[in-house]
Amino acid sequence: VIEIGQPEHSVVTTCAYCGVGCSFKAEMRGEELVRMVPWKDGKANRGHSCVKGRFAYGYATHKERILNPMIREKISDPWREVSWEEAIEYTNKEFRRIQYQYGRGAVGGITSSRCTNEETYLVQKLIRQGFRNNNVDTCARVCHSPTGYGLGQTYGTSAGTQDFDSVEQTDVALIIGANPASAHPVFASRLKKRIRAGAKLIVIDPRRTEMVKSAHIQAEHHLALKPGTNVAVVTAMAHVIVTEGLFNEAFIRERCDWSEFQDYIEFVSDPRHSPEEVEKLSGVPAETIRGAARLYATGGNGAIYYGLGVTEHSQGSTTVIGIANLAMLTGNIGRPGVGVNPLRGQNNVQGSCDMGSFPHELPGYRHVSGDAVRDIYDSLWGVKLDEEPGLRIPNMLDAAVDGTFKGIYIQGEDILQSDPDTKHVSAGLAAMECVVVQDLFLNETANYAHVFLPGSTFLEKDGTFTNAERRINRVRKVMTPKNGYADWEVTQLLAQAMGLNWNYKHPSEIMDEIAKTTPSFALVSYDRLEKMGSVQWPCNEKAPEGTPIMHIDGFVRGKGKFIRTEYVATDEKTGPRFPLLLTTGRILSQYNVGAQTRRTENVAWHAEDLLEIHPHDAENRGLRDGDWVRLKSRAGETTLRAQVTDRVSPGVVYTTFHHPDTQANVITTDFSDWATNCPEYKVTAVQVSPSNGP
Ligand code: SF4
Repeated sequence: VIEIGQPEHSVVTTCAYCGVGCSFKAEMRGEELVRMVPWKDGKANRGHSCVKGRFAYGYATHKERILNPMIREKISDPWREVSWEEAIEYTNKEFRRIQYQYGRGAVGGITSSRCTNEETYLVQKLIRQGFRNNNVDTCARVCHSPTGYGLGQTYGTSAGTQDFDSVEQTDVALIIGANPASAHPVFASRLKKRIRAGAKLIVIDPRRTEMVKSAHIQAEHHLALKPGTNVAVVTAMAHVIVTEGLFNEAFIRERCDWSEFQDYIEFVSDPRHSPEEVEKLSGVPAETIRGAARLYATGGNGAIYYGLGVTEHSQGSTTVIGIANLAMLTGNIGRPGVGVNPLRGQNNVQGSCDMGSFPHELPGYRHVSGDAVRDIYDSLWGVKLDEEPGLRIPNMLDAAVDGTFKGIYIQGEDILQSDPDTKHVSAGLAAMECVVVQDLFLNETANYAHVFLPGSTFLEKDGTFTNAERRINRVRKVMTPKNGYADWEVTQLLAQAMGLNWNYKHPSEIMDEIAKTTPSFALVSYDRLEKMGSVQWPCNEKAPEGTPIMHIDGFVRGKGKFIRTEYVATDEKTGPRFPLLLTTGRILSQYNVGAQTRRTENVAWHAEDLLEIHPHDAENRGLRDGDWVRLKSRAGETTLRAQVTDRVSPGVVYTTFHHPDTQANVITTDFSDWATNCPEYKVTAVQVSPSNGP
């Protein structure tokens, strides 16, 4: 007898929100999802979960989901529902026309960090094999692309070095530009438990987050730096470690390039990097910098965890390099309890990068200019791949405005809401002749689309996600796609319309192709994942059971490489008109631009974005808690309510970006990381004034 509301069966799958990658049992009654129960055997979460994964799945059946393909010749026309056949054929004809008329490089695509590895692999394959160019990019461009560059340069590969279990052996945790309590809650719980057990904590963040002080933990040192000065502070910590002789010479001699270290020592010892000098730039007291550096260098196993507060800066890549330098300096790499750990934001941002979503890299982070790598794909795919890197997202938009880029296939990404400089994004999209959006809802980007292809949720497909610890977790289909097809099937339909010989019957066959062509995935298969539950790449002949901790015997690039980290102030300056610095972050119950969480019961929990402002700055402007304020930058303005709090320092304001009404990205500038173009979301000069509301 089945009681009303009781499940009939359950399927183990993976949360589709953050990079922790929690495993859940989806309990089902027929095609109805009754509840999500955190799975005790999930290696990333061990039976724990946060409010998003547990409760925020209602978007899958939300009434606003678009289930039928739509076309319109002009964006001023109304949408017209069409069959899948017509939508696919129209898209194919348009892309072919554009390439014939404007050239092979006039089209490109964007993969999604929300979709599976297999889906991401297919999108980049479609672009490289079908469009015959490398114009593919990913939403990682706007979050962790500096991690790819910085860790690639210093260690030889772009990934977190540790598994989450490693934190159990950490003695000193250094958190930089991250608030795991909000953004990676299940990992934050493990970290807090370790702190409560006696490990020490250092936090570098402009804001006093829950990790700095909460009911059960308190950081030893909080370096509340001025936004934009990460490089100066991290280099000053290295200065202290070097000038006080706290570095690990034996480790460096054995594992790192000694001549580059000599050059680095000369650079970092310079008095301009001293804590006293850096205090003038960053506002962090010199003694706090010294204390943090000494603790990290001498406190036992030191582990660094960092987030978008590191990467989304004009010197994001430089800070990642500085962090990698710190770990090498102190020998805090290559064993349990230590390491450098980017806390990846989206569920599959690690995977989307692994799968060749960047315009200069094929799957497995291999540069497109490498003849031997291209040969593998040339022979498998039967085409000659382009050896020139393609366009990044901002370059695609620039080229569109210039009239040389005309068509784009965007899977699972709302670039109008999530990318910086909204006016430029809309100008680029408006200039294109065929914008194809594949998504669950009519998002902001779809306002500029000519074709809308309904997307599928994680509950409606098989595949894999790769979490922040490189763990490849299975995603299992628990219900039939409401739109008719899983996302990978739609990409395959497009490929077949283009005349490509794709006949994948199941995502496992896509993974088999990934394994065949990508050394770090060589032994990954659905069979292995069934047997092991999950596996961390590299998983190959050398490591058939996977690799929980990287760089144990040597760095992927051979010797670790020290690189100078010269601080260069951002061009975004405060002044009389824009005297405050705005930085941004997330809250626990909402996720990114809120497309999913706002369409669940969570919507009621935090219904608006607030502007945190220090009591002194509020008083100077005659503001009280809850007042409406106008937030204005050189790029744009918006209206929201003030929250007066000393969590932020005088001169700094803070908001979240979960609600489209606030449009925080209207405010942000078009400055970006020098190496990767990752936008500088975390530093914007603003003015705040009283307002009567929107
Ligand atoms: Fe999902 Fe992340 Fe929460 Fe885990 S911590 S349930 S992966 S949102």
